[in-house]
Amino acid sequence: MDHNVIIIGGGPGGLSTALHLHRIAPHLTPRILILEKEHYPRPKLCAGGLTIDAEVILERLGLDINDIPHVFADNIHFDFEANGLNIRIPNRHALRVIRRDEFDNWLAEKVKGSGIEIREGVTVKNITSQSDKVIVETDQGIIHAQIVVGADGSNGITRRCIFPKEPVYTARVLEVLTPVLARNAAMKQSPTMEEIAAPSLAARNDKTAYFEFSPVPDNIAGYIWDFPTQIKGESMRCWGIYDTNILANEKRPQLKEPLSQEMQGLGFDLDEYELKGHPIRWFSPANKMSVPRVLLVGDVVGADPIFGEGISIALGYGKIAAQEIHKSIQRGEYSFGGFKRRVVRSALGQTLIARWVIAHIIYPLKWRWFQILLWRFLKPIVILIAWVFVLNWGKRL
Ligand SMILES: Cc1cc2nc3c(=O)[nH]c(=O)nc-3n(C[C@H](O)[C@H](O)[C@H](O)COP(=O)(O)OP(=O)(O)OC[C@H]3O[C@@H](n4cnc5c(N)ncnc54)[C@H](O)[C@@H]3O)c2cc1C
Repeated sequence: MDHNVIIIGGGPGGLSTALHLHRIAPHLTPRILILEKEHYPRPKLCAGGLTIDAEVILERLGLDINDIPHVFADNIHFDFEANGLNIRIPNRHALRVIRRDEFDNWLAEKVKGSGIEIREGVTVKNITSQSDKVIVETDQGIIHAQIVVGADGSNGITRRCIFPKEPVYTARVLEVLTPVLARNAAMKQSPTMEEIAAPSLAARNDKTAYFEFSPVPDNIAGYIWDFPTQIKGESMRCWGIYDTNILANEKRPQLKEPLSQEMQGLGFDLDEYELKGHPIRWFSPANKMSVPRVLLVGDVVGADPIFGEGISIALGYGKIAAQEIHKSIQRGEYSFGGFKRRVVRSALGQTLIARWVIAHIIYPLKWRWFQILLWRFLKPIVILIAWVFVLNWGKRL
């Protein structure tokens, strides 16, 4: 056998699995191999919003996330038609925003520093699970492993190899980066009539992350975001639109349209910037998570259905997968029949199930009056639900 554990994909899911394995079973370190098709620092389309739970998991690994360039959003605004509720967390930032090339490279350096090998520039082409091993075919040859972890993201190969016929639930996502100054300058120098007429839009500030749910009544079951970010120290804004596809059977505008309108209202012409898209596979309780000798983590299993939040979630899956692998190696038994149960019963599984339920309430109830009620008038209930069911699971993991 070449390796005990091969991890396919070096994003947050794969790297977290490796770091947690190193922590709970250091003797396995030389027998773990990560195969990553890119070279770090590699680009990854992502808004880079890190919740408190991602920070808790990283802190518990002994990592200081302040090492990575970041900006803080002090507030999170959930809006419907530019009016809604503001969330602050007492004595701390509401969201830390990183760039994924920097974050993943930093995490990969920590993995390498622990002694675990990452083979970069190796693309996995096929995986076959047999009774005594897993055969991993790559563009650079065949490797055998006792256990494989599929951490290759929403477009990865692992799920397609082991569950070729399973349904997948995938969100459509578009993202664009703009300078901050363009907006501020446009606002100050030549406010349009719309800007003057819409003081709440003009009042947007650069320390707030905005989530705008106005596309929902048009059957886009998601939101538009506008986050502060930075690139090489320069302040920028990251915008995007997320659609779970829960209302895919209804008539919908092109995904880019509501984003374009939103940006126009704030002084930006979307066509002047590079728009990129990438799917996010989201969690459903029906999703399968393992076959004998192969475990799935991160987007391969599924991210948060409400927002498409997946970094903290991938870090969380990594911790649970490491515990499962450690136990199975101790027992010499690799069926992983209990992995899904372990995930679902964990604090991570509970938040994912709660988020799946919430997404299936707030998006199908798409009427304008309901969205106004939800985001403007039910503030204490929304905050309570966010606090209990969406956030704060990392401490309990
Ligand atoms: C536009 C957009 C915005 C987002 N914004 C946020 C946000 O603000 N906050 C948040 O929490 N989440 C966000 N997400 C979701 C988040 O990016 C993902 O959930 C997260 O990256 C999942 O991590 P992962 O490790 O499972 O997969 P990935 O990060 O996708 O990592 C998979 C890795 O596997 C490698 N790989 C793929 N195929 C192969 C192969 N065949 N062989 C070898 N290697 C392979 C890839 O190169 C990659 O490095 C966003 C996603 C998108 C698309």
